[in-house]
Parts: sequence; C-alpha cells; structure tokens
Amino acid sequence: MTGIRSTVSVAPGILFVEGPLSNWTVFTGNGSVELVDCGYPADLPLVEESIRRAGADPADLRRILITHGHSDHLGASARFAERGVVVATSADELPNVRREVTEQVTIRDLLPSILKRGTVRWAIAAVRAGGLRDVGVASAVALEGDEVHLSTGHTLQLVAAPGHTTGSVCFIEPESRSLLSGDAIVGGHPLLRENGELQQLPGFFQHDADEAARSAQRLVLCDVDRVLPGHGPIVELARA
Ligand SMILES: [Zn+2]
Repeated sequence: MTGIRSTVSVAPGILFVEGPLSNWTVFTGNGSVELVDCGYPADLPLVEESIRRAGADPADLRRILITHGHSDHLGASARFAERGVVVATSADELPNVRREVTEQVTIRDLLPSILKRGTVRWAIAAVRAGGLRDVGVASAVALEGDEVHLSTGHTLQLVAAPGHTTGSVCFIEPESRSLLSGDAIVGGHPLLRENGELQQLPGFFQHDADEAARSAQRLVLCDVDRVLPGHGPIVELARA
C-alpha cells in the first residue's frame, strides 16, 4: 500500500490520483502543472510520478492549491515551496497551513476509537507516511476571490466548506462538472465501512462536527456530475 492506487483521467488535463492513503489531482496544460493537494510528506516521489503519468514534467509544477492543512493533503508542500512552487489555500485556512495554529488529528483524538477494526493499522501507516511531521508552509498565500484561474487553462470555483477544519475549501471545475471536495465529503476511508458512497469522515477527524455536517449537507446539493474526494474513489452522481 505504498504506491499510487489508481489514476483516473477525468477530462483533458485533469488526472485524479488515488494515493496510498489520500488523494490529489493533477492539472496540466500550457506547459504548466498545478495540483490540488499532494498527499502525505512521504508521497513526494509519488506526486512526481503522477505528474509524469499525466504527461508532464514535475519541474513545471507552478502551484499547489490546498483544500485544508492536514498532513495528508499538505504533504511535502514545504519541500516544493523551497523549489519556488506557490502554495495557496483559502484565507480562512491560511493560519493552519502556515501552522500559526494547528488543527490536526492527534493520536490522543484516536484513542476512544483505537479498538475499532483497522484503526491501529491505519494509524501506523499514517505515521510512517509522515502524518506527525511538521508540515507547515510559512510562505503559503491566500486565494483571492471566488475563482482561481490556473496556469494550465482550467478555472476552479472556490466553495467554502468549514468544519473539517476552520477554513476547509472545495473546488468546482465547471467544464468537467467535478467537485474536488477535500475531506468535507469523501468517497471512502480505511476507517469507514462504505466505499464509493458520499459520506463524512468519522467525527474525531472534524474540527467542528456540527459545522462540518452543515457543510456536507450543502455540498451534496452542488450541481455537479462527480465528486473527486480527498479519500476513497471518485463518486459519480447519477442524474435523472
Ligand atoms: Zn483532513
């Protein structure tokens, strides 16, 4: 469980990547690369491999958009930032991404659930992947406005989804009618029973469970054809 699980070509220049423990999306075009999220710190070589699978050069990575500052999404952003890659997130999530505050699941949060099937195995894998490392990116910047125009030619609409973390943000790619949902709603997780269904992560992952539930309820009403979640497979939404 240390390699890329799967890649799905969603639309021209959009490659969804199921990493070992979390997902990211590669945008390519105009000789440029941008990412939404980038796995755990230990996934750095897999992120580069996924960019090559998308037919691009990791050296052309310009920017990483972060849905939220958890270590399995922020990953090795700090290492990429040292190479000149811009790391950006919502204004409300910026303090968490910079680690001016820390909203991150700890071992202590897991203790009440530790006897549940699969929890220990998942926790060991998460720690090995760098889940407890300091992943803050001091140079991260805030996304302005309701839309982000990517260097690849794609446009993403920002959708605030607070609760999982204070400033969690999702992105809609209108051309492919895809919602990149981060952890606000997911398609599965080793600690969830269902796989391939839209659902919320277990409560101990949520910074504010009530607000996370309200965000999830709003998100499932988004007018999109599929959800590209932070965990689990793509969920295709049947439309009448
Ligand atoms: Zn998360």
